[in-house]
Formats: sequence, structure tokens, C-alpha cells
Amino acid sequence: MQRFTYMGTGASLRNKVNTMIVVVSSDIIFWGGAGFLLKRPWNWVVLAGGLALTVWVIRFLRSQLHRVHILDEQALHLAFMRSRLRIERADVARVSVLGKPLAPDVDDAALSYRPQNDTIYMVASRRGLVALELTRPYEMKVPRKGICQFTRIVLTLDDPEAFAAALGAQQEAAAAVADVAIARPTGSTPVFTAPLVDDGPVAIRLEGLVRRYGDFTAVDGLDLIVRPGEVLAFLGSNGAGKTTTIKMMTGLLRPSEGRVLILGRDLWAEGGEVRRLVGYVPDVPLLYDALTAREFLWLMAGLYGLDDTTGRQRADELLALVKLERHADQQIRSFSLGMKRKMAIAAALVHRPRVLLLDEVTNGLDPRAAREVKDFIGRAACDGVAVFLTTHILDVAEELAHRIAVIDGGRIRALGTLAELRRQTGLPDATLEQLFLALTGGAVAEEVGA
Ligand code: ATP
Repeated sequence: MQRFTYMGTGASLRNKVNTMIVVVSSDIIFWGGAGFLLKRPWNWVVLAGGLALTVWVIRFLRSQLHRVHILDEQALHLAFMRSRLRIERADVARVSVLGKPLAPDVDDAALSYRPQNDTIYMVASRRGLVALELTRPYEMKVPRKGICQFTRIVLTLDDPEAFAAALGAQQEAAAAVADVAIARPTGSTPVFTAPLVDDGPVAIRLEGLVRRYGDFTAVDGLDLIVRPGEVLAFLGSNGAGKTTTIKMMTGLLRPSEGRVLILGRDLWAEGGEVRRLVGYVPDVPLLYDALTAREFLWLMAGLYGLDDTTGRQRADELLALVKLERHADQQIRSFSLGMKRKMAIAAALVHRPRVLLLDEVTNGLDPRAAREVKDFIGRAACDGVAVFLTTHILDVAEELAHRIAVIDGGRIRALGTLAELRRQTGLPDATLEQLFLALTGGAVAEEVGA
């Protein structure tokens, strides 16, 4: 068993000292007041109350002074303020020492959660920081936020290198790792502006993904990553290989070569448990028309193994989220296409997936329904979900996506923010449509002044 200490500094230390002064003073005032008011000898009730208060004060002070994380053979036992968290060693995918300071908005005096990078911060100072990436989501209660699910933890330690070495995980060349935001593509008009951090865990990793149908190669060696809270738009002409790719990411179509990793776990090697991390909305919504919206979500909740009470609560939450509460008890067969798409998205989110795969979800929707679906996608990303989105509607990609991948003939032709795509193609003033045409046909390169 190894013990790793950490010291609070700055705001964290000030908060602790102030709290301790208040608590100790109230105990002293109690005893002083009791002695002064009761001029006769102590009676038992006052004495018992005073002793109870003193015991509580001592326990509180100990919890405040508790500055040790413990690592044993099975697990890492984290202690921060009054919170405790046990992480199985087997669930730690990577540990890296953060070389640069924390983003300014991270609270260094309290337990906090940032959905943008799916991270719990247990930081008592802005130095000596270590990031743990987990192979599966953990949950813990965070003040003012309730239960938060996360796959990354940032900690403060007196000796981060020793901690990383002891945990036995690969120590990354972390000097380059920063806890900073990267910008959205220039020229885009995002609805939600969740900053995307360029460190942190990878939610989706495609490694050399290939799919052949007989002699024909539909997807030809794809490599890409999507981070939690990121929206990646996957664009391509008809037959480019988008649906084939997305089906390999859901577990519906086995890759001929390569791997799909979800939060570091191999979707095809590990199966069920990893698939539960994924929500999928196909281009044609698969719904049971004879059920009402509410019944359908209950059914989905049951299929994902949620108990009755949780399933019913989750159905109500999702119906409110997609603004279908008024139609909750209507049969799905009476719904418009927009309502059906929203139902399909709600169903894909029943089990709180960390990855959302959306195939052409805004196709055929009127502007109002499309707006609602886009808002919904933006909100999911703001909650830390990694969104992989295929679309033929370039405005949707431009508005929602942090990065865009253009695929042609089963291969990625360009990948990056809109500004990066312009740089990669040497077309500094091109619109996304012009870039898309240039990347998938090359015909308009001269027109846009390459
Ligand atoms: P769209 O935008 O039209 O939906 P896409 O980019 O999603 O197209 P895919 O459906 O992935 O393209 O198809 C990629 C290629 O693979 C196409 O040439 C298609 O004809 C071929 N293909 C897809 N499914 C099969 C199959 N089951 N058998 C043989 N070829 C297939």
C-alpha cells in the first residue's frame, strides 16, 4: 500500500483555514457560553451536547486535513475534501502528468466537474497535476451538480511523477499536454459554445478501419479520433462509405480489418458492455409505431436493463428534453417525421451513452424540426457526449461540428476545423461547399482561386 500526499495552496488553503477557524470558534463559543450561562455545575444534557459537538469538530478537522490518496494492489482510493472515490487499478487506461496549468475556469478549492472534457477535478492547487483516463465511466456526487458520470480525473499531488510511476501506467510526454480550449472553426455560427479541450480522453478511436464487400473496398483504412464533448461531422458523397463506417461503430457490421475503440475499449473484441456506451440513430428511425412515445421509451429502458422506476424517470426526462411531453401518450404512428427523429434520438440516449452516432438525422426535416434536432445535438455535446454525425446538409456540419472529415471512395480526404480544411486544400476563402466539391471531385479548385 502506498500513500500519496497533496497540499492545498491558494484558494483551497484559504478556504480550509477559514472553515476551520469558524468551526473551532463555534465549539469554543459553545463551551464558553454554556459555562457562563449555567452558573451552576454542568448539567448532563449540556455536557453531552458539548461533547457531541467537539467530536464532530474533531472529525471535521480530520476530514479537512486529510490530504492523502492511497494506492493498493487492487484500487486507488482517492480522498478529496469530504468525498471518497475508489477506482479499480484495472480501470485506469492512462496516467499523465499535466505539464501546463489548469484552464482558468477550473475550481481549485472544491470538487468540480467539467462536462466538456468529461473530467472530475480534485485539485487543491494549480501545480503538481496528474490526469487519469479511465476505461469506463465512474460516478460520484459533486456539490451543486448532483451525480456526475466521468471518464477522466485530474488530481493534485506533491510528487506526480512518483504517483504516475507507481500506478504503472504509461507516463506520457505530458509536458505538451495542456488543459486549454481549442477554437471552433472560423466562420461557423455555433448554437452551443462548449469549449473543446485538446487533451483528455478519446471517446472514439478508429484504427485502420477497412470494410470489404467481396472484391469491393467500401471503407479503406480510416484513422480518426473523436473526444468527449466533440461533434465530428463525417461528410461524403453518396456511396462514399459513411453508413458502412457508422455501422461498424455500432456493432452492426464487422470490420474486415482494423479496430473501433470506444473509451479505449475494443467494440468488437469486448462486445456488449462496450456497445452500451454507444447510442445510435439510423437514417431511417426504427420505432414501434403501435406504442405511445412514453411506452416506447419504457421499452427501450427495459431493454437496456434500467429498473422500472429509473426507466420511467428517464423516459419523462427525455420526453421533456425533446419537447414531446404533450404527445407522450400518443401512438408513434401519428407522429410527423420530425417527431419520429426526436423520438429516435431520445431512445438512443435512454442508457446515457458516452458516444452518439447519428446517421443523416436532419434529412427531410422542416426548418423548425431541424433547428430542434440541432439544438438537441449541441446540448448532448455540451453534456460531454462525443457525437459522430453524417450529413449531406453542409450547413448542419458547419454550424454544429468542431471538426469535419471529408470521405471519398472510403478514404478520408481531409480532416480538421473549417480553417484547417481551407489550409489543407490551399483554398483560403472557400466555403464548405466549395471545399467539399474540391475534395470529392477537384473540379472547383480553380473557380475558388486555389
Ligand atoms: P449514402 O450517402 O448514399 O447513404 P454512404 O456514404 O453511406 O452513401 P455506404 O452505404 O456506406 O455509403 O456504401 C459505401 C459503398 O459500399 C457503396 O458503393 C455501396 O454500394 C457499397 N455497399 C454498401 N452496402 C453493401 C453491401 N451490403 N454489399 C455490397 N456493397 C455494399
